Amino acid sequence: MNIILLGPPGAGKGTQARRLVDERDMTQLSTGDMLREARTSGTEMGRVVAEVMDRGDLVTDEIVIGLIEEKLNGDHGGGFIFDGFPRTLTQADALGELLKRHGTTLDAVIEMKVDDAALVERITARSTCGECGEVYNDITKPQPADGKCANCGASNFKRRADDNADSLKQRLMEYYKKTSPLIGYYYAKGDLKTVDGLGEIEDVAAEIGKALG
Ligand code: AMP
Repeated sequence: MNIILLGPPGAGKGTQARRLVDERDMTQLSTGDMLREARTSGTEMGRVVAEVMDRGDLVTDEIVIGLIEEKLNGDHGGGFIFDGFPRTLTQADALGELLKRHGTTLDAVIEMKVDDAALVERITARSTCGECGEVYNDITKPQPADGKCANCGASNFKRRADDNADSLKQRLMEYYKKTSPLIGYYYAKGDLKTVDGLGEIEDVAAEIGKALG
């Protein structure tokens, strides 16, 4: 099964993708994670990508489509979860073509709905484990008092450079301008399923489970 998790920054796409990986043996393809890795590479591309991401703008379609194309050549496992991709109509068309070329299709697009006030609160309070990527929130799920990740025991926590009020405002603008048209695009194709992303992690996971069947 191949699915897209679609939603604004902070909707919980990464958290839910990680659960699906554990529960359904699927492969998470997060273009945000791939780009964060690229920016640490010390290459010219990494430097350009870092600047764009820190501003809260979108990286070019060409770069992200290239990253996804590379990964699709790998092992399919239980299928792919596209997390943070596609983000533009050009990327959505390219994904359809790439899947077709690999003899497969998209099974569902899960739209995670969350209101803007909740997004700002979630993102500015967010940190993650530097080892396993477990997500914490200063208010709703603080880092353990012993300073060790509850999932893997590591003690290096990170905050994203673009999780600040200015970048977030720009990331939200980009979402509404360039990514939200994908809701209509996938609705028209009959692939769209909408879940309420505001609830507890478990409740959202249950809703996604129901939507996927
Ligand atoms: P994310 O981790 O998905 O929130 O992505 C972090 C940042 O990476 C975004 O704000 C963009 O600058 C860039 N990015 C991630 N995925 C894409 C994509 N599909 N298209 C363009 N830029 C992307």
